Amino acid sequence: MTNCIFCKIAAKQIPSSIVYEDDELMAFKDINPAAPVHLLVIPKLHVATLSECTESHAALLGRMLALVPKLADEYGCAVSYDAEGTPQGGYKILINSGPDGGQEVYHLHLHLYGGPRPWRGLR
Ligand code: 5GP
Ligand code: ZN
Repeated sequence: MTNCIFCKIAAKQIPSSIVYEDDELMAFKDINPAAPVHLLVIPKLHVATLSECTESHAALLGRMLALVPKLADEYGCAVSYDAEGTPQGGYKILINSGPDGGQEVYHLHLHLYGGPRPWRGLR
């Protein structure tokens, strides 16, 4: 997709802070972070929204989701448990889809938010 900013990031035609890359996926830091940790996970394949996804995208979507715990570990926001077994840390994932979903960039992406609160615009 020639005019897609995330396709250009995936093709390294414009710079980004890349935190993960493989044949199918890329993860990079959001340029305007809403939380201390704010990463975006994208497929390199251009898919505009989650609404374009079908069963044929299930493996790709699964891989995007399965990358989250690894990134959360690396960025210090994995869920852990204290001595009493109370959960600590953690993160939120979000996929905005379409205008009513608040999507601004029409290349499928998963937000990963973490780190100490408060987070801008998020509960
Ligand atoms: P959406 O509302 O579409 O789910 O979120 C798009 C996200 O992409 C926003 O959080 C925005 O800050 C981020 N973003 C937009 N353009 C760029 C860019 O050129 N580079 C990076 N790293 N993030 C971007
Ligand atoms: Zn794209």
